[in-house]
Amino acid sequence: MRKNATPVTPAYLGLGSNLGDRARYLSEAIRLLRRLAGIRVTAVSQVYDTTPVGVVGQPNYLNLVAGIETELPAAQLLTACQGIEQALGRTRDVRWGPRTLDIDILCYGDLVSTNAALTLPHPRLAERAFVLVPLATLAPDLTIGEKTVRELAALTDRTGVRECPENGIG
Ligand code: ADP
Ligand code: MG
Repeated sequence: MRKNATPVTPAYLGLGSNLGDRARYLSEAIRLLRRLAGIRVTAVSQVYDTTPVGVVGQPNYLNLVAGIETELPAAQLLTACQGIEQALGRTRDVRWGPRTLDIDILCYGDLVSTNAALTLPHPRLAERAFVLVPLATLAPDLTIGEKTVRELAALTDRTGVRECPENGIG
């Protein structure tokens, strides 16, 4: 008898680091994501050096976006991402404050969730140039709400977002 294949959902993750060896934290996070059962990394954007948004006076971030396909339900994907944050030394103190690694689930298929523990699409996605600029390079036609990522990216102020091509992560 043939088993039903586990459904696979496309999702996008936003990664950021602004403490210590930022590029290394991002590449380690991608390496750990690739090793997780139930997750296949399908695309990794360029790395961007970005001016912090929210809490001022903290170091610049390096940000990237990864495209994945996953068999994990959304809640398990969040737990897996938080496990990688922990493994790479993140301590949770100041919200939006400096961190070795932050992984946000930007979207998970077409799932819409208003749960505070996992809001999808990510509630601040549409206003964050540091996410929209890299995401637009991977998935310009993806729709978030009523707009495409291309449209949302064109609407944001990208002056604080600089591509650093020397930091490409495979
Ligand atoms: P932020 O990413 O906003 O700077 P944290 O990484 O500390 O802050 O996350 C705070 C909480 O946000 C987490 O405990 C998590 O449960 C919740 N959360 C809600 N929606 C999402 C999402 N789409 N991706 C990641 N975390 C989320
Ligand atoms: Mg986060």
